[in-house]
Amino acid sequence: MRLLLVEDERRLAASLKRGLTTDGFAVDVAADGVEGLWRARENPYDAIVLDIMLPGMNGFVLCRTLRDEANWTPILMLTAKDGVDDQVEALDTGADDYLVKPFSHAILVARLRALLRRGAPKRPAVLRAGDLMVDPGRRRAWRGPVMLSLTAREFSVLEYLARNAGHVVSKRDVLAHVWDEDFDGDPNIVEVYVRYLRRKVDLPFGRQDVQTVRGSGYRLRLPEDA
Ligand code: CA
Repeated sequence: MRLLLVEDERRLAASLKRGLTTDGFAVDVAADGVEGLWRARENPYDAIVLDIMLPGMNGFVLCRTLRDEANWTPILMLTAKDGVDDQVEALDTGADDYLVKPFSHAILVARLRALLRRGAPKRPAVLRAGDLMVDPGRRRAWRGPVMLSLTAREFSVLEYLARNAGHVVSKRDVLAHVWDEDFDGDPNIVEVYVRYLRRKVDLPFGRQDVQTVRGSGYRLRLPEDA
């Protein structure tokens, strides 16, 4: 099992590497965030041990960048003592687990083995329709490089359209998948949300990808569709 250790405290990094190597891991060390990101992109690691406070690029940014690139290598973040905010942020940015410094070597190895047993989590793949990208796992969407600012409901409607990109979905389908069964309001709410979506997803980019198919429903156009 090959690990990337991103840790700028040289003595700690060296002792961790020594211990982990003894336990049978192959360990590469990066001493700053930029090098860590580069190594993580270039090599197929089984897991990454990631410090937060790093020169160049901190651990949160590094972790988020990898996740944004759909790199799901399991990440164990090293957080400061009493850093509840750090722990929450670690998980929010896409780390799989965290360990509070200082920690015993036995705990580090146990956590790593647990992470490796779980493997890279099966996150929903990013959905694509042309240059529209929808990430259901992180509930974010982009048009090209531009991140779209969507409400939770708008995102859900877009996600459903993207899962069925190129196909017509009926108003009833959208209602059934995006609203819960208790919704007993006007089904035209779907039309309203589709309109909101167009204003954010299509209009600013001069596009008309969210289509109304008269009498049938809606379709998210794929580039190959006429
Ligand atoms: Ca540090």
